[in-house]
Amino acid sequence: MQDPRTYLPAADALHERVILITGASDGIGRAVAIAAAAHGARVILHGRNVKRLEAVYDTIVGAGNARPSILPLDLEKAGPTEYEALFNVIEKEFGRLDGLLHNAGMLGERAPIEHYDVPKWLRVMHVNVNAPFLLTQRCLPLLRQASDASVIFTSSGVVSRPRAYWGAYLASKWASDGMMHMLADELESQKIRVNSINPGKVRTNMRLQAYPAEDRNTLLPPEAIVMPYLFALGPASTGISGQTFDCQ
Ligand code: NDP
Repeated sequence: MQDPRTYLPAADALHERVILITGASDGIGRAVAIAAAAHGARVILHGRNVKRLEAVYDTIVGAGNARPSILPLDLEKAGPTEYEALFNVIEKEFGRLDGLLHNAGMLGERAPIEHYDVPKWLRVMHVNVNAPFLLTQRCLPLLRQASDASVIFTSSGVVSRPRAYWGAYLASKWASDGMMHMLADELESQKIRVNSINPGKVRTNMRLQAYPAEDRNTLLPPEAIVMPYLFALGPASTGISGQTFDCQ
């Protein structure tokens, strides 16, 4: 397998692929959405903050790429009705889904388990684990309509190096990676591949929240780590499933 970090996609590598990116309003999701659109994808921008989603929309259209769709949804509050509505909108507009990137995430607090705030734990697990489960389950019929579908979960360094005080975030990333392996196995005989991506240290608001004293100049900007995402979303990774790709 080629190293996804050195992948150089053709300009039309994602031509006409319909790709839903959660947490596309900011940080890594925003950068991947812009890069995917620049390589021909029809992106569906998900997030909470509509103003920020509209700014991403403007950037994509301003660069002369296909008009994205905007899908505002708070993953903390979304239930079956909202997921059903989301399914109906995508089915009506596109009839299929070629890519589903579970990127939205919540850090929660850095605290020992003994003192971790219980409501906050449940919120982090809901956004980082339950939401990708619910969204994947509802989107599977749409993914089955695509000829080369790709589902991507977002991993983290806390999976390979579990350590103290990461609380629900660590537990959620282990659960997310477990879900990736399980789903890859369940869909083995189908045309849907399932992988995880570990972005590494990236200059985003979440990273700032986790390491407030860190020198931000030592970190890569989100735009510098998008290639493994394009690799996982496009034809270069066809047939590759159950893997975790590192961006750094
Ligand atoms: P950011 O904080 O920059 O962006 C997070 C995104 O998730 C935003 O678009 C935000 O939307 C969305 N989001 C958060 N909560 C919700 C919610 N309840 N409902 C809907 N959308 C929500 O984070 P990053 O770009 O840094 O992180 C992206 C992913 O990468 C995460 O899964 C994170 O765990 C992972 N990661 C990041 C690393 C890093 O160094 N940055 C390292 C390892 C993993 P809105 O703006 O609308 O609130």
